[in-house]
Amino acid sequence: MRILFTGVSGAVTANLRVIIPTSTAPPTANSGLRLNSKFRFETYAPGGRMWLIRAWLNDEIKTSDRFQEILYSCATCANCVEHCVFTFSEDLVNIFIAAREELVNEGIIPPPVRDFLKNINVNGNPYKEPANERGKWAKGTPIETYDGQEYLFYVGCVGSYDERAKKIAATVGSLLVKAGVSMGILGEKETCDGNEVRALGEAGLFKVLAEQNIESFNKLGVKKIITLDPHAFNSFKNDYPGLGGEFEVYHYTQVLAQLIRSKKITLKGYKAKITYHDPCYLGRHNGEYKAPREILKSIPGLELIEMDRNGENAFCCGGGGGNFFTDILGGGEDSPNRIRAREALDAGAGIIAVACPQCAKMLEDGIKTEELDDRLKVMDVAEIVMQAMP
Ligand code: SF4
Repeated sequence: MRILFTGVSGAVTANLRVIIPTSTAPPTANSGLRLNSKFRFETYAPGGRMWLIRAWLNDEIKTSDRFQEILYSCATCANCVEHCVFTFSEDLVNIFIAAREELVNEGIIPPPVRDFLKNINVNGNPYKEPANERGKWAKGTPIETYDGQEYLFYVGCVGSYDERAKKIAATVGSLLVKAGVSMGILGEKETCDGNEVRALGEAGLFKVLAEQNIESFNKLGVKKIITLDPHAFNSFKNDYPGLGGEFEVYHYTQVLAQLIRSKKITLKGYKAKITYHDPCYLGRHNGEYKAPREILKSIPGLELIEMDRNGENAFCCGGGGGNFFTDILGGGEDSPNRIRAREALDAGAGIIAVACPQCAKMLEDGIKTEELDDRLKVMDVAEIVMQAMP
């Protein structure tokens, strides 16, 4: 049976029993993140996961710690969607998220997922940090508080609280100001966008967060949003409209590409061999592959080289679907961030360019664990642009 997820993918409420196709075999075990290689069981691959969900819905198996781990090991990277040959391929990620929703409703979720959701519920962020710490990253930068400017620059939880990501947020924001973009941040009034909450299956909490944000953006008169993080970009663009939140949404690389095109940012040069890592929520989930590459290609002296798996087939860093916070995928030689670090090195790059603070952290960890620090480093696209300016 073909599934129907209407409109708001983030508010999936469909009954899973009418979701799982019953007459077609699940997708190939070898597509996507190939977690079956890491975990040595096919149930960790998309096809195996589909069989497992179907057996669960048919009451042939019961939930267990292992079952939860398998459902939460999906990074929602959507690579399986690209490779699956079946008619229901577009619905794969929604099926996995809907299965998680059933687990959340039944109160049977892994402890790291429970803790993540609790922290968002209590603190509005997963770091257990107070709200008044949220805008502190912008201190000492020319970035102002939002007060009716043309754009809201929405940073998100990682950009607001993580030390490495705060530096990226400050670089992106400063670049935009330098180029004359009229924008401001919400600072301590900003709260979680909910993308990972939705991916982890807490549809109710996601709706609360989205509605809060929509109300606060509308009250402030926000019409256009620039996001730091592709995850927030995805939520605002794809999930908020179904809840009444209609905004013009841009990822910052789209704005930077335009600023370079219109010569509001001029580039002197940056000599380096760089490969670009597509974030799943900017690439596969939203089809934006060109803007970051256009920026990098416009820098004199920069050699852009592609990894074998790039664009629609790019390999996930392993941080998606909330795994950045829950670490259910864990470490080991076959962990996605370590595999990706090796792929970048094999491509001959000295720098991995990223356009997502979560990818930046995941890949830096992968490089460190692989002991490649002296041969490879991670830079955000904005950091590279900053270096390339006169
Ligand atoms: S979305 Fe990514 S991690 Fe999840 S099953 Fe598909 S390929 Fe694997």
